[in-house]
Amino acid sequence: MLEVMRQPMEDKVVTISRAQGTLTFPANFMLVGAMNPCPCGYFGDPHKECTCPLSMGSRCQKRLSGPLLDRIDIHVELPRVQFDKLTSDRLGEVSEVVRARVKRARQAQREQFANTRLACNADMGPAEVREYCHLDEAGRSPLRAAMQQLQMTARAFHRVLKLSLTIADLAGSETIETTHLVEAVQ
Ligand SMILES: [Zn+2]
Repeated sequence: MLEVMRQPMEDKVVTISRAQGTLTFPANFMLVGAMNPCPCGYFGDPHKECTCPLSMGSRCQKRLSGPLLDRIDIHVELPRVQFDKLTSDRLGEVSEVVRARVKRARQAQREQFANTRLACNADMGPAEVREYCHLDEAGRSPLRAAMQQLQMTARAFHRVLKLSLTIADLAGSETIETTHLVEAVQ
């Protein structure tokens, strides 16, 4: 069922076919999803063993196909929060500060793409990635290494570049630095 998401994610339209005819609707959206690594939730946990039948964990992961995962720009693994962090007096960054940073980055992207059909970095296709995501030689070599090591697809390659540009925008940087690139790969 999830696989039907592939077309709207890629083309930003939904096509519904019925006996009476076919209708195509615009469907530009931001997809945010979360999943447990396995039914018990501990698959891959360094401290607690997963109690699911062997292979169950990997079977759960396989429910999302490679092509579908390949179309999701950002993947983040969330480990369990440790006691020390929960009880620490030091608070993380407050949401208002993060919000302001995101708004600034969004604004920069709107200005960058002012005379194009694009609204933000995520909208870039391969041609725009080539145009807007410039890497110097220092950035090119870690990307080359990551691509070989992780067996990245062309789509993943473009995704990493787009994400690097967004990280650079968030940092208020005009160019993609190696640290932005490394963060995107991770
Ligand atoms: Zn489990």
